[in-house]
Amino acid sequence: MANQIATDADVVRHTIRRVAVATGITMVMTATIMLMDLGGNPDAMVRVGNVIILSMCAATMISAVVSGIMSYRSARLMKELTLMRSELSRISQTDQLTGLLNRRGFDDAAVPALHSAKQTGASAVVLMCDIDHFKSINDRFGHEFGDKALVEVAGVLREFSQVHGGLVARHGGEEFAVLMIGVSREQAEIHAEEIRRACAHREICSGDVCERLTVSIGFTVARGETDLAGIMRIADRALYAAKRQGRDRVIRADEAPPMAMA
Ligand code: GH3
Ligand code: MG
Ligand code: MG
Repeated sequence: MANQIATDADVVRHTIRRVAVATGITMVMTATIMLMDLGGNPDAMVRVGNVIILSMCAATMISAVVSGIMSYRSARLMKELTLMRSELSRISQTDQLTGLLNRRGFDDAAVPALHSAKQTGASAVVLMCDIDHFKSINDRFGHEFGDKALVEVAGVLREFSQVHGGLVARHGGEEFAVLMIGVSREQAEIHAEEIRRACAHREICSGDVCERLTVSIGFTVARGETDLAGIMRIADRALYAAKRQGRDRVIRADEAPPMAMA
């Protein structure tokens, strides 16, 4: 936002602007009132010339000090509000457990990314990645261990995005989403396999218990489409097919059988 006060420099700029306006108005008003009082009599003006100048100086100084203090305080408050608002927005878009974007954060970032991909003619790849038999992991090792597993899978995705770019998020429960722009179908398949393998290799340890898990991945390649929900549905269908075909695998959307037949 153009007039947003987010830094100390913004606070100073805002204060200076306000003081300049307040002192300008004070000078004009003081001079106008005095001239009206003197009735435009030149002799009177010459006689009280110093009084006019002194009064204007005094009024301007008082106005500068008062408006300076008030503007500075209000600017500091506005800065705090701006920072608080951006912190709230960050919290509302972040998954507390894993630190990845949550679904809201993913959607907020994915929609503009899809629009700019459409404009540049770039492809958009959406991967849906779901931990296999996660309920049984929770049941066997406890919810805390399950949480640890979620953090580990999130770690795999974070490392992936650090290397290859893309948007990664915990989309819900034990489901993660990845959006990559300008990636071919073949490359997407290689990336998805890389994520699947990295998850399968990562050992999750808590106390004496160490366990490995697998993930299933469905993905789709969109070209020029901007309907995020529609694209996610297609990737989800591919994920569903990966589950049906035995889990621990990657399925491309156009390989997935229609839902009714699956
Ligand atoms: P599938 O292979 O078909 O995906 O089976 P699944 O067991 O992974 O899937 P299901 O949907 O049956 O179970 C998902 C489980 O994820 C159930 C829920 O308790 C668990 N879960 C969701 N969110 C969390 C979380 O934040 N922490 C933990 N520990 N478990 C969670
Ligand atoms: Mg699952
Ligand atoms: Mg699931």
